Amino acid sequence: MSTPPADRPTGAPAAPASSSGAPAAPYSSTRLVDAGRHFDRKVATVNLPVVRASSVLFETLADADAEGAAAMAGERHRTTYATSGTPTTMALTDALAEIEGAGHDCRAAVMPSGLAAISVPLLAYCSPGDHVLMSDSVYGPARVFASTLFARFGVATEFFEPTIGAGIGALVKPNTKVIYLESPGSYTFEIQDVPAICRVARARGVLTMIDNAWASPAFARPFDWGIDVSLLPLTKYWGGHADFLMGAAVVRTEHWPKLWQAIRQLGVCVGGDDAFLALRGLRTAEVRMRRHEATALEVARWLEGRPEVARVLHPALPSHPQHALWERDFSGSSGLFSFELKAATQAQLAALCERRRFFRIGYSWGGFESLIMPAKIGTLRTVKPWTGGPLVRLHCGLEDAADLIADLGEGLAAMARAG
Ligand SMILES: *Cc1c(COP(=O)(O)O)cnc(C)c1O
Repeated sequence: MSTPPADRPTGAPAAPASSSGAPAAPYSSTRLVDAGRHFDRKVATVNLPVVRASSVLFETLADADAEGAAAMAGERHRTTYATSGTPTTMALTDALAEIEGAGHDCRAAVMPSGLAAISVPLLAYCSPGDHVLMSDSVYGPARVFASTLFARFGVATEFFEPTIGAGIGALVKPNTKVIYLESPGSYTFEIQDVPAICRVARARGVLTMIDNAWASPAFARPFDWGIDVSLLPLTKYWGGHADFLMGAAVVRTEHWPKLWQAIRQLGVCVGGDDAFLALRGLRTAEVRMRRHEATALEVARWLEGRPEVARVLHPALPSHPQHALWERDFSGSSGLFSFELKAATQAQLAALCERRRFFRIGYSWGGFESLIMPAKIGTLRTVKPWTGGPLVRLHCGLEDAADLIADLGEGLAAMARAG
């Protein structure tokens, strides 16, 4: 065969090769830096290679300047340094804009956690003196950010009843910059009338943001509802394996420049390995979610029949107060829901949650594994304080529903014994 070896840089002079194919040159420190960096043969694999990078290289100073101007302007796929993106993170942000923003003109940015994907956009869009309306049912750390650090920078956050709907109009002030939503709400699972709130916000010139953690783009389409900024904790269902942290903000393109400037100035970025894991996770997100959904519904219906349980807070159950809204707006439900116990002492809660075989005690959710955690709801609601019994949140993983039900049955029996 007379075909030349294809792994030589195109145009590079043929180096004398050893039997291993490596150039027959003596060892040197320079070789240590240079070796193996001239591979440029395209090999077709299913997944893109993982790019780990800080510096990005240029052929000329003019190239560096041109790329810098394009990156500063937030043009797609332009970067002068890995804080602005690498091929791996760009593949991920393209995918997120395409999926979460399907049918709309959107851009996406990734951040090192779901919480950063909440705080960074709020910082990007608000200034001192602004007013933010935030649902009373938001993720606890979002509430803490709004009430402390954000407040210190002069932004006043007012919490509102999650089911307010179009009534939000009465709370909008001349300086209201953002209405921040989460549907269903954390721990209490209220469904918000997001389309109605978005109509009011648009008429009053207020930006709308939503935390789309629970449903993910598989089951909810926030941009169809009229949302301007959708936040995705990729840590949860998109990652799906409890092995990395990441968040994304997907925004209508008109809102991209402000977000991009904040991201660049705050130095918020993610590494190639985590971006690769997010890309891998999202391929199977919808099929995993269908299984989480089926299992959680089976567990939820079983809990509804238990005498210890006052009610189950799951939007896909007909007993849920906003079930009709969920049916109108969502195309599925996930593995996360809560149930309220009629009564339980702290020792009984411990007996319910500890030493379970499948429901392990842990924060977060969205992975393949089941988790259980009592809610410390007392500190998390200010508009309408929680007056119900002890609240316990479950994440139903990918185990068999029968095993999860048996596990909870043992927990409830242990709870009774501890009484
Ligand atoms: C977990 C969670 C987040 C934050 O995601 P992290 O990646 O854990 O920071 C945001 N919103 C909701 C509703 C969550 O449950």
